[in-house]
Amino acid sequence: MRFATAVLGVAVSAALLAVPRTGTAEPAEPPPAAVRDFGNGPERNEVAAGLPERPGTSRAGAGTDQPYGLSRDRGYPRRTRLPVPAENPADASVKLGLVPYHGIAPRLNDLQWRGDRVSAEIIGRSAAGRDLYLVTVTAPESAAEAREQARIRDRIEEHPAAAARDRKLAGRYKAPLFVNANIHGNEWEGTDAALRTIEELATSRDPETARLLATTRLYFNVTANPDGRVAGVRPNSAGFDLNRDFVTASQPEVRAMRQVMIDTQPVAMIDLHGYVNGTLIEPTTPPHGANYEYDLFITHTYANGLGMEAAVNALGYTVEKDGVHPAQIPFRDSAEGWDDWPPIFTPQYAPFHGAVAAHTVEIPLRVNGSDYTQQPVEELRRRSAINTDVAAAAIRATYGFVRAGHDQLIAGQIEVFRRGAAGEPSRAVPLGIVPGFGPEDVYTTTFPRAYVITGERSAPAAARLVDHLIANDVRVGRARHVFRADGTTYPAGSYVVDMRQPKRGLANVMLEAGADISDRVDAMYDISGWSHALLWGARVDGVTSLRVRADPVQAAAPTGSLPRTRGPLALQVSDAKDVMALNDLLARGVSVTWGGDGTAIVPAAARQAATTVSDRYGVRFARATSTHGTPLPRVRIAAAASADELFTLRELGFDVTPVSTAVLNEGFDWSGIDVLFVSSGLNHQALDAEARTALDAFLATGGVVARGGTGAAFNAAAGLLTATAVAGRGDANGVVRTVSSGGPAGAGWAGHAFVYSPRWFTALGAEVTAEQSYAADGPLVSGHWRPGPDGAGGQDAARGQAAVISGRDERGAAVVLFGTEPLFRNHPKGQFPQVARALYWSAAVTGSTLTTP
Ligand SMILES: [Zn+2]
Repeated sequence: MRFATAVLGVAVSAALLAVPRTGTAEPAEPPPAAVRDFGNGPERNEVAAGLPERPGTSRAGAGTDQPYGLSRDRGYPRRTRLPVPAENPADASVKLGLVPYHGIAPRLNDLQWRGDRVSAEIIGRSAAGRDLYLVTVTAPESAAEAREQARIRDRIEEHPAAAARDRKLAGRYKAPLFVNANIHGNEWEGTDAALRTIEELATSRDPETARLLATTRLYFNVTANPDGRVAGVRPNSAGFDLNRDFVTASQPEVRAMRQVMIDTQPVAMIDLHGYVNGTLIEPTTPPHGANYEYDLFITHTYANGLGMEAAVNALGYTVEKDGVHPAQIPFRDSAEGWDDWPPIFTPQYAPFHGAVAAHTVEIPLRVNGSDYTQQPVEELRRRSAINTDVAAAAIRATYGFVRAGHDQLIAGQIEVFRRGAAGEPSRAVPLGIVPGFGPEDVYTTTFPRAYVITGERSAPAAARLVDHLIANDVRVGRARHVFRADGTTYPAGSYVVDMRQPKRGLANVMLEAGADISDRVDAMYDISGWSHALLWGARVDGVTSLRVRADPVQAAAPTGSLPRTRGPLALQVSDAKDVMALNDLLARGVSVTWGGDGTAIVPAAARQAATTVSDRYGVRFARATSTHGTPLPRVRIAAAASADELFTLRELGFDVTPVSTAVLNEGFDWSGIDVLFVSSGLNHQALDAEARTALDAFLATGGVVARGGTGAAFNAAAGLLTATAVAGRGDANGVVRTVSSGGPAGAGWAGHAFVYSPRWFTALGAEVTAEQSYAADGPLVSGHWRPGPDGAGGQDAARGQAAVISGRDERGAAVVLFGTEPLFRNHPKGQFPQVARALYWSAAVTGSTLTTP
């Protein structure tokens, strides 16, 4: 029987408070009730705009993906000499008495030469260009022995049924364990505990350690977020919360972790966080992700959770003496609020690569936020020492668990892949499979026979999705011929994701629509809907039959094309790649005309440049049937926006200058700006008289694109469009069905949208057009959206209401307001062009006499 005690309830909400939803510059102190206050929760990302400063270690290639990856052919130890970064006395770890980032490489270099058990390798670079270190601890292996391990690993994934029958397999295979540390930069001590346990394992003469290393490989990502560790902040230097990025993989640190999980295929993993007192050890509360083999997962994860709990409690820290509460396990001790529904977190992503035990561990004593600045150094160091002990105890318990359960864990991983490859139906986990597993814990899904991805809606979008699936180790094929499935005819060249594959859970969690779970739980920890099929712009169909010959795909085929005939070219901006191509053309000085309907017209003289960008971005130009339109400038944006939005606008190739209330009050030069983007950190009422005058002058020549509560408030205070913004419940989020209503900005075409704290617009003035509306049914397809406690702000209230509106205010400013979240965490890529089209329209028509170009 599950019960939620008052103590645990408080601890979990404290953790929720300590976890801002998006990675932005770290707020010194989270706002009260940031997540739990549903009715009038504050707008997300209400922090000053602007990217955190990048440290001086930035170098060429920073943030770009390079072909890192672990060699399959080299033995162990590998004795890599890691480059040692310059000493940085300002590293935030120093105050806590912990190892600063620059101190890690020397320690690892030393450990590699002190024995034959430790190997350190660079697996990528952070957004700011810092090396990411993966340490492997294992008994020495010859190159031939390492290749044999790789062959067995492949066999487990590729031939799981045969692997399951092979009784000698487990005896020859070293069980892989993955320890991930410090993914949140200001949750430091996982790194120090990793270094401590690596040293213990490297130097111990205990025969039990020798046996452990003969039968396992222990992989440590020593600090997953060096930028955040150094700066003492949660996100990386691009402002992203890396532990929300796994289904999107927008950040290089996450792509590195993803590759480690694919290459090492761990049977168990732990992700070390802080701070929850008592130490929080997963498994989680409901809702549970429906795409896991949850019977295998909960059995092993709960067992290791209990083992870690015992190890942590055995350290002997007490409430009275140390202020340390006993450990807690959300699955056992809480009713809800700490779920494993979205696979955006490390331990919720790892199971798709075969981990049958995966945990978030939250060490107990807070040293970040206001404690970091206000507690005496002695006290901070006391806490950090205890935290390091707790994290080390969790690591030791987990490798003991893997040692003891070696064969069963390997068998569990094989079984996960076997069910996938066999295309078995989703299983309802038997009640009581572990104590307390009740009906509230049972979540299932329906796997289609296959998904078909076509270029029908957007060829670049289809290619991007296919490449994303492949990067996630999902197998994709390409149809050799025309075929029919479920009454639809698909052309040759269509992509096919056969769901009879070992990692079908990962394929499905990205490609299924998801579910509306509003009725099943009251509170969710983070997002509840993310479907790549509905949000990434490609047409994706689940089909119940599959009769087609398909060739395996290593990468999506090129998609770019131009018409053969000379003459002006039209580029329909319907995908993020189209936006990138158009911004590239504008940056090259090509004279582009905005033709309305989301189409840019490129003169015949620019054919060479168009050929280049078509090739680079895979975009398709058509013959322009009309050259009528408004000159489109290279759009220069002043953006009061959150870090994820700034990242995306820049990724799309816009020229972006971050602004905020403070920046405008300091005296901002508007002369180089075409459009003001407002979603965060700009309060019109807090602008001084001079700043307001300057803004008013800008609005006579420049446009506005705004989003969310901050955008709506700005619209009202600046007297732009006549509309009333209505707020839905603050924590409501997910994928909604939308209807395009047309409109001059062309911003409303997509059939689905992502929302978080959704808004809609009523009492529209005569000058206002509804570009997009929430569908009259639903509108939630997948996610969590209930009415507030007073019955207001639910899905029913939003039905048929305007979600995106546009118009020109009396000064002539072209304005677009979004009640959706089109740029959220760089994820809903199919919505990015909506924002881009709004920006192009706003930049092109503001100041012109045209209402529609
Ligand atoms: Zn954390």
